[in-house]
Amino acid sequence: MSHNTNSLASLFSSLTNEAILDDAHCQVATDEGIHKIDAEQQSGDRLAAVAAFAGWDQALDADTQTVRRRVLELVTAWEPEAAAAFQNGRFPNELFRQLGAAGALGAALVGRNGRPPLAKTAVCAIMHAVEYGDGGLRCALTVHDSVIQALVRYGSDAQRQRWLEPLIQGEIVSAFALTEPNAGSDIRAIATKATRQGDDWLLSGHKSWITNGPRADLILIWARTGERNEAIRGFLVEKETPGLHIEPIASAGAMRVAPVGRVTLDQVRVPHSAMLPHAWGLTDINACLDYNRMTVLSGVMGGARRCLEIALVYAGNRYQFDVPLASKQLIQTSLADMTERVALGELAMLHLAQRWEQAALPRFDVSLTKRHNCAAALEVVRMARSILGANGVDFNHHVIRHLLNMEASYSYGGTHEIHGLIVGKELTRENAF
Ligand SMILES: Cc1cc2nc3c(=O)[nH]c(=O)nc-3n(C[C@H](O)[C@H](O)[C@H](O)COP(=O)(O)OP(=O)(O)OC[C@H]3O[C@@H](n4cnc5c(N)ncnc54)[C@H](O)[C@@H]3O)c2cc1C
Repeated sequence: MSHNTNSLASLFSSLTNEAILDDAHCQVATDEGIHKIDAEQQSGDRLAAVAAFAGWDQALDADTQTVRRRVLELVTAWEPEAAAAFQNGRFPNELFRQLGAAGALGAALVGRNGRPPLAKTAVCAIMHAVEYGDGGLRCALTVHDSVIQALVRYGSDAQRQRWLEPLIQGEIVSAFALTEPNAGSDIRAIATKATRQGDDWLLSGHKSWITNGPRADLILIWARTGERNEAIRGFLVEKETPGLHIEPIASAGAMRVAPVGRVTLDQVRVPHSAMLPHAWGLTDINACLDYNRMTVLSGVMGGARRCLEIALVYAGNRYQFDVPLASKQLIQTSLADMTERVALGELAMLHLAQRWEQAALPRFDVSLTKRHNCAAALEVVRMARSILGANGVDFNHHVIRHLLNMEASYSYGGTHEIHGLIVGKELTRENAF
């Protein structure tokens, strides 16, 4: 290995102690002007290269590393099916169960085999690895984990007893139904009603954009009960419950491996025992959403990293004007811009994850990083799309799928603008909502 090591690798190395792409895997921008990337070798070494990046080895404990590596193996093995799964809106049932068996579902919320839950950094590490495969798959895990989180925080012993094990094993799939046709960013506008009738509750209303909705076995529905100053309570509703109708939003153009749905509740009768006893409204819901945002800001960096790798390999192998694209300064500065965004986004994610270990994170910090990472990842993936030229819009090259997913992440889990308003309010003490 010459002193003039791979420039991308050096940047990662100096920022994070580890190189994503060491010289054994690819050579870019050496003194000799060698721009040779062995795509086959590189893709064969992909797992090792990804495992080595960004100082994860120092940041993660052994149990988390084991789960993360297994997740990377699973999503990498599944990736060849991803284009078709996305185009057909097909939920990867088998992969979801395998992720459960790998300990990736609710990993930092529920212990397994008599051991405590994994560290909080595991959530970020796992979601990063999952979205390295696909953002829709990560979205499926995000909402599933939100339901697990709501059960752990606000559920009864009987509810936890009944649901946690099948949820963490991936035997059942769950959905988190908050958004409504007239309540998006402004969740105070929720109109779905729960009316008490003897020992039961009757739920009526509409939910929209519910990830996993068409596939879910269990849906957590948030509804107004009229208790304590317009409380919003959570109800665990099983899919076969009469009056519950779920229609896929088949025209959705993002996150298609975790199909989204419109939910109609027409006098859905559930027992009082289906209500989460300890969740009362927006503060409690927001605690679930902050967890959810940590999964988003981590996941998008995994997708961005995958697209950076794809663009790098492509630029080394695509010859135009008799030379590889990678030899062009404009392409190199694009790759540098992409690398910078990925590296800094991952560092912000790791920093936040480690602080999360100590205490609940301030909303300001989560909003700032969610906003930054989603915008940065979107830029990275757009640059990768451009480097691949026409192939950038071919699903078989993966980048367009990540790009479409990133567009949704930009607005999902709180939009870019709303997180800007949260940060702005904190800075100025002026409410601009
Ligand atoms: C793929 C996908 C999956 C989803 N999955 C789920 C799920 O599982 N469960 C669930 O409950 N929800 C889910 N959602 C819904 C998501 O949380 C909402 O889309 C999001 O909260 C934004 O709401 P909205 O789409 O109604 O946009 P709106 O709130 O209508 O906003 C539209 C635009 O106006 C801007 N805006 C709004 N208010 C202001 C303001 N005060 N000042 C300036 N600009 C403003 C927004 O930033 C945005 O740009 C999902 C959405 C998508 C796209």
